[in-house]
Amino acid sequence: MSNTSLAHPATREARGLEIYCKHSEDIALSIRRGTYSVPGCSGTVTYAVRLVPEEWCECRDFEHRSEPCKHIYATRTVLSCYPRETDGSRPPLTRPAAVGSSDTD
Ligand SMILES: [Zn+2]
Repeated sequence: MSNTSLAHPATREARGLEIYCKHSEDIALSIRRGTYSVPGCSGTVTYAVRLVPEEWCECRDFEHRSEPCKHIYATRTVLSCYPRETDGSRPPLTRPAAVGSSDTD
Protein backbone atom coordinates (compact mmCIF):
# COMPACT_ATOMS: atom_id res chain seq x y z
CA MET A 1 0.00 0.00 0.00
CA SER A 2 1.76 3.10 -1.17
CA ASN A 3 0.63 6.41 0.14
CA THR A 4 2.75 8.66 -1.97
CA SER A 5 -0.01 10.80 -3.45
CA LEU A 6 -1.46 12.59 -0.48
CA ALA A 7 -4.40 14.72 -1.50
CA HIS A 8 -4.45 18.21 -0.12
CA PRO A 9 -7.66 19.69 1.26
CA ALA A 10 -7.74 22.09 -1.65
CA THR A 11 -7.85 19.13 -3.97
CA ARG A 12 -10.88 17.73 -2.20
CA GLU A 13 -12.56 21.07 -2.38
CA ALA A 14 -11.76 21.38 -6.07
CA ARG A 15 -13.09 17.91 -6.73
CA GLY A 16 -16.19 18.71 -4.74
CA LEU A 17 -16.76 21.71 -6.95
CA GLU A 18 -16.28 19.52 -9.99
CA ILE A 19 -18.92 17.10 -8.72
CA TYR A 20 -21.18 20.03 -7.96
CA CYS A 21 -20.82 21.43 -11.48
CA LYS A 22 -21.78 18.11 -13.03
CA HIS A 23 -24.43 16.87 -10.63
CA SER A 24 -25.80 19.81 -8.66
CA GLU A 25 -29.43 19.10 -9.60
CA ASP A 26 -29.07 15.38 -9.00
CA ILE A 27 -27.69 16.05 -5.55
CA ALA A 28 -30.31 18.67 -4.70
CA LEU A 29 -33.13 16.37 -5.76
CA SER A 30 -31.69 13.27 -4.13
CA ILE A 31 -32.38 14.35 -0.56
CA ARG A 32 -34.30 11.80 1.45
CA ARG A 33 -34.69 12.37 5.15
CA GLY A 34 -31.71 14.63 5.25
CA THR A 35 -29.46 12.28 3.31
CA TYR A 36 -28.11 13.14 -0.11
CA SER A 37 -26.85 10.79 -2.79
CA VAL A 38 -23.65 12.26 -4.16
CA PRO A 39 -21.92 10.81 -7.22
CA GLY A 40 -18.20 10.31 -7.17
CA CYS A 41 -15.96 11.69 -9.88
CA SER A 42 -16.67 8.67 -12.05
CA GLY A 43 -20.39 9.22 -11.71
CA THR A 44 -21.11 5.51 -11.47
CA VAL A 45 -21.20 5.20 -7.70
CA THR A 46 -23.09 7.41 -5.31
CA TYR A 47 -22.36 8.00 -1.66
CA ALA A 48 -24.77 8.87 1.12
CA VAL A 49 -23.96 12.26 2.62
CA ARG A 50 -25.47 14.09 5.57
CA LEU A 51 -24.71 17.62 6.69
CA VAL A 52 -26.88 17.64 9.83
CA PRO A 53 -26.71 17.09 12.73
CA GLU A 54 -23.08 16.75 11.71
CA GLU A 55 -21.28 16.26 8.45
CA TRP A 56 -20.98 12.65 7.47
CA CYS A 57 -20.21 10.67 4.32
CA GLU A 58 -20.08 6.94 3.80
CA CYS A 59 -17.01 6.97 1.57
CA ARG A 60 -13.72 5.55 2.76
CA ASP A 61 -11.97 8.87 2.57
CA PHE A 62 -14.24 10.32 5.21
CA GLU A 63 -14.26 7.13 7.21
CA HIS A 64 -10.49 7.17 7.49
CA ARG A 65 -9.95 10.87 7.94
CA SER A 66 -13.12 12.13 9.62
CA GLU A 67 -12.65 15.32 7.67
CA PRO A 68 -14.80 16.75 4.91
CA CYS A 69 -14.41 14.79 1.68
CA LYS A 70 -15.20 15.89 -1.84
CA HIS A 71 -18.77 14.63 -1.49
CA ILE A 72 -19.33 16.81 1.54
CA TYR A 73 -17.80 19.79 -0.24
CA ALA A 74 -20.09 19.16 -3.20
CA THR A 75 -23.15 18.91 -0.98
CA ARG A 76 -22.19 22.06 0.90
CA THR A 77 -21.98 23.92 -2.36
CA VAL A 78 -25.33 22.58 -3.50
CA LEU A 79 -26.95 23.74 -0.28
CA SER A 80 -25.44 27.17 -0.62
CA CYS A 81 -27.04 27.53 -4.04
CA TYR A 82 -30.34 25.73 -3.50
CA PRO A 83 -32.94 26.48 -0.85
CA ARG A 84 -32.36 24.46 2.24
CA GLU A 85 -34.96 21.78 2.68
CA THR A 86 -35.70 20.87 6.25
CA ASP A 87 -38.79 18.71 6.39
CA GLY A 88 -38.29 16.72 3.20
CA SER A 89 -41.91 17.17 2.13
CA ARG A 90 -41.12 19.06 -1.05
CA PRO A 91 -38.27 18.63 -3.49
CA PRO A 92 -36.06 21.71 -3.64
CA LEU A 93 -36.69 22.17 -7.32
CA THR A 94 -36.11 25.88 -7.52
CA ARG A 95 -33.29 26.51 -9.89
CA PRO A 96 -30.62 28.78 -8.59
CA ALA A 97 -31.25 32.30 -9.75
CA ALA A 98 -28.57 34.08 -11.66
CA VAL A 99 -25.49 33.46 -9.60
CA GLY A 100 -22.84 36.08 -9.64
CA SER A 101 -24.70 39.10 -8.41
CA SER A 102 -24.01 40.25 -4.90
CA ASP A 103 -25.66 38.35 -2.12
CA THR A 104 -28.30 40.50 -0.47
CA ASP A 105 -28.93 38.20 2.43
ZN1 LIG B 1 -17.25 11.19 0.76
